[in-house]
Amino acid sequence: MGKLTGFIDIKREKPQEIHAGERISHWEEYLMPTGEPALKDQAARCMDCGTPFCQMGSDLGRSTSGCPLYNLIPEWNELVYQGKWHEAYLRLIKTNNFPEFTARACPAPCEGSCTAGVVSEPVAIKSIERAIIDKAFEEGWATPRKPLKRTGLKAAVIGSGPAGLAAADELNQAGYDVTVLERDDRFGGLLMYGIPNMKIEKKVVERRIRLLEQEGIQFKGNVNVGVDVTMEELRKIYDAVILCTGAGKHRELDVEGRGLSGIYPAMTYLTGSTKHLLNEESGEPAITAKDKHVIVIGGGDTGADCVATALRQGCKSIVQFGKHGELPKERGADNPWPEPPDVYTLDYAYAEAKETFGSDPRQYQINTTEFLGDQEGHVRELGTVALELESGENGKKQYRENESKKQNWDADLVLIAIGFEGAEDDVFENIGVEASFNQIKADNKTYQTNLDGVFAAGDARRGQSLIVWAIQEGRKAAESVDRYLREKHSKKKVDVG
Ligand SMILES: Cc1cc2nc3c(=O)[nH]c(=O)nc-3n(C[C@H](O)[C@H](O)[C@H](O)COP(=O)(O)OP(=O)(O)OC[C@H]3O[C@@H](n4cnc5c(N)ncnc54)[C@H](O)[C@@H]3O)c2cc1C
Ligand code: SF4
Repeated sequence: MGKLTGFIDIKREKPQEIHAGERISHWEEYLMPTGEPALKDQAARCMDCGTPFCQMGSDLGRSTSGCPLYNLIPEWNELVYQGKWHEAYLRLIKTNNFPEFTARACPAPCEGSCTAGVVSEPVAIKSIERAIIDKAFEEGWATPRKPLKRTGLKAAVIGSGPAGLAAADELNQAGYDVTVLERDDRFGGLLMYGIPNMKIEKKVVERRIRLLEQEGIQFKGNVNVGVDVTMEELRKIYDAVILCTGAGKHRELDVEGRGLSGIYPAMTYLTGSTKHLLNEESGEPAITAKDKHVIVIGGGDTGADCVATALRQGCKSIVQFGKHGELPKERGADNPWPEPPDVYTLDYAYAEAKETFGSDPRQYQINTTEFLGDQEGHVRELGTVALELESGENGKKQYRENESKKQNWDADLVLIAIGFEGAEDDVFENIGVEASFNQIKADNKTYQTNLDGVFAAGDARRGQSLIVWAIQEGRKAAESVDRYLREKHSKKKVDVG
């Protein structure tokens, strides 16, 4: 335990952010690293409570509680407090393949279930995780680890998002020859094209890919599995295949006027923006918010990333619609600890919009009913109706449109961010695995699909989720592949020491 009364004596410090007004002039990360002395203080707040809910990692109530990677949080808190950074790093990578991603973009369910949070504020776990991994890269501790022996067996990982990368890393370290096949031109999945640069700089993703390459993993880009190479062909070459193809089927908004130009799925917009940035193209990206009235439909994190991107492109105004009501300032009775607190926060994008235009861009309990265009067929306006929460049959609360509260909004660019429906149709049509509610059907424990030697992990299997869950799934699927191949090839006596 750090300091006996640390959580009483020392106040929690939030990670420092670059000022909202300043950071919208560039695309660099908005979070700043916390200095070493301050971090030791933060680590001292860990009370080593004995039952570390922070590392339990399970679905509780409506969302995730504790770290899904079972990160050894109290242990590395103590090591950081003692100044034993290298040991803290070794403890961290026991459970987390890529702390540099989670420490930047994880919503930190660990903090929501931290015991210190019951009586005071939670330990700043995510900041400590970030400091450990940043230091490891600075000090040169994160160097290529090449497996000492190879099994002679081959595995293919389809998709290079966090699930695919974690599976590839684990299998490579276990001695398999691993090839990652990726449809896109760059590797990283949504870490590369999806999550914007302000949350995870792309050089951070590229640094990890380089490290994995140096460790022996082969990366092949621009390969659309099911089109450029069939599953049958892959199964002949590789002893096992893991599908980590994500949950990229976006939900459509089927209302009048959807065919007008100027209306795009959020992912088309975000991907185009990142490609424009990385390719260092001159001028504006093909879809730009510059000098436009922008409306983002959908109240989630993808929508927030659209808001932050549009602000950096110089939009004229920005509004984000959500169907649900504003969250309370404090936990409700139906949202007890150790569930993550479902409370109002002014996330990075909203703080930036408030700084730029003077108000939070979110509009709550609102439904889009139609798009209206000009003579050229470009969207110029959008119609909405307010939603009221009322008791339906059996007393169940439900939203009802209030026809007396209609409104029209200026809109030159509309971004649809109302969620994802599961794995893309191609996966089922071209690859031939069975589906379960739009996700790849794969056993909860073995991650095995209906095809022998073919496994699935990450969003493709569990639906749109979080980086931390994707890493966990990749690790577990790799463990299962290892077991499968050891059993299948037991006569060969696979032994990697
Ligand atoms: C805009 C946005 C912001 C987000 N922000 C956060 C955040 O801040 N924090 C957080 O924890 N989570 C966030 N998420 C969720 C998180 O990114 C995902 O849960 C995670 O990336 C899923 O990992 P994955 O490896 O399963 O799939 P993905 O990251 O989706 O990767 C799948 C990969 O498979 C490739 N692929 C698909 N089909 C084929 C094929 N046939 N052949 C070859 N390759 C193929 C795709 O091109 C892609 O690269 C965000 C998601 C979005 C959309
Ligand atoms: S990965 Fe996420 S949940 Fe786990 S310790 Fe890090 S911030 Fe917390």
